[in-house]
Amino acid sequence: MVPRVIYGRGSFGQLADILLPKRRNSEAPFIFLVDDFFEGKELESRIPWLFNDLTIFISAAEEPKTEQVDALVAKIKNDFDELPSGIIGIGGGTVLDLSKAVAIMLNNKGGSEEYQGWDLVQKPALFHVGIPTISGTGAEVSRTAVLSGPERKLGINSDYTTFDQVVLDPDLVVTVPKDQWFFTGMDCFIHCVESLNGTYLNAFSQSYGEKAFDLCEEVFLGDLSPKEAEDKLMMASWHGGMSIAYSQVGVAHALSYGLSYVLGTKHGIGNCLVFQHLEEFYPEGVTLFKKMKEKHQIEFPKNVCANLPNSDLETMAQIALSMEPLWENALGKDWHQCIDQEKVVAIYKKI
Ligand code: NAD
Ligand code: ZN
Repeated sequence: MVPRVIYGRGSFGQLADILLPKRRNSEAPFIFLVDDFFEGKELESRIPWLFNDLTIFISAAEEPKTEQVDALVAKIKNDFDELPSGIIGIGGGTVLDLSKAVAIMLNNKGGSEEYQGWDLVQKPALFHVGIPTISGTGAEVSRTAVLSGPERKLGINSDYTTFDQVVLDPDLVVTVPKDQWFFTGMDCFIHCVESLNGTYLNAFSQSYGEKAFDLCEEVFLGDLSPKEAEDKLMMASWHGGMSIAYSQVGVAHALSYGLSYVLGTKHGIGNCLVFQHLEEFYPEGVTLFKKMKEKHQIEFPKNVCANLPNSDLETMAQIALSMEPLWENALGKDWHQCIDQEKVVAIYKKI
């Protein structure tokens, strides 16, 4: 679990105080990895630089890749004589995952693709801080950093991945565009549905999942003020992340990974494209999801897969079906008897 967290509007202003005791010396910088949306914006001027600290702006146009992590690590090692005092990630799931991976790889040998999997990291990461600027993925709280590698999209899952400190400041999300707010927010809602309806569920996951589910209902179907909705979605993301930390995601995430691998579809929208066709697996969740989509008048792209060659659809299905723990969580130990390649391709064709 994340050992330290502060929450509240304006809490970003405490970052200087948080970092000061963690600064090893004036030659060991803090590296701020910041979503490039904030380049030239007010937030940039509030970053508490000292000495030779460095800000690197990161584009979230594509999700993080192992080669991007390795290139950043090489640059940081090349530019400084000392290892950094720490890594600060400021952005959405893309920048948060990248920051976790960079903090790990600055202290571990080899390339990041060697660590995709479970508990392969040998040495602790550098001190790393996560500051989300959009709510939903739960990346701020989870013990994984999802990366696309040459062979697969898979997280670096380890006890060293989790941030040492998180700053939850709802003021940072006010500029998120509406569609993106919905897609990333639905990632949280779908985490809850998959966790709460999964066979891996336990009291720990259930208690966080139910809270996150209720908060999502309030945010997306209630009559909250914009500020209340921002506050509550930030906490829903946190609880949703905690819920899957001790259980697993399910059918939507398995299919969304296939979509992302072949078409590069981003996580939030990919989940939504898939989830709308999963009534068979999550009837109540999909009904609520459709209500939310309608209330906020969100349009999804159409004919995303309808005209793809069969070979692409088959690759997607193979990637999806290779995520065994997700299927086992969703459908139980005998999941092979409930789903096969043909059925998965049929779902993709509806998208
Ligand atoms: P994102 O980080 O890709 O950002 C989406 C868009 O929103 C980008 O264009 C970004 O620039 C913009 N944005 C972010 N904050 C903004 C702000 N305050 N104002 C205006 N624009 C802003 O989106 P995401 O949905 O948060 O993250 C997706 C990534 O998270 C994927 O790579 C996925 O694999 C990963 N993920 C990780 C976990 C985990 O547990 N580690 C869980 C789910 C998803
Ligand atoms: Zn997700």
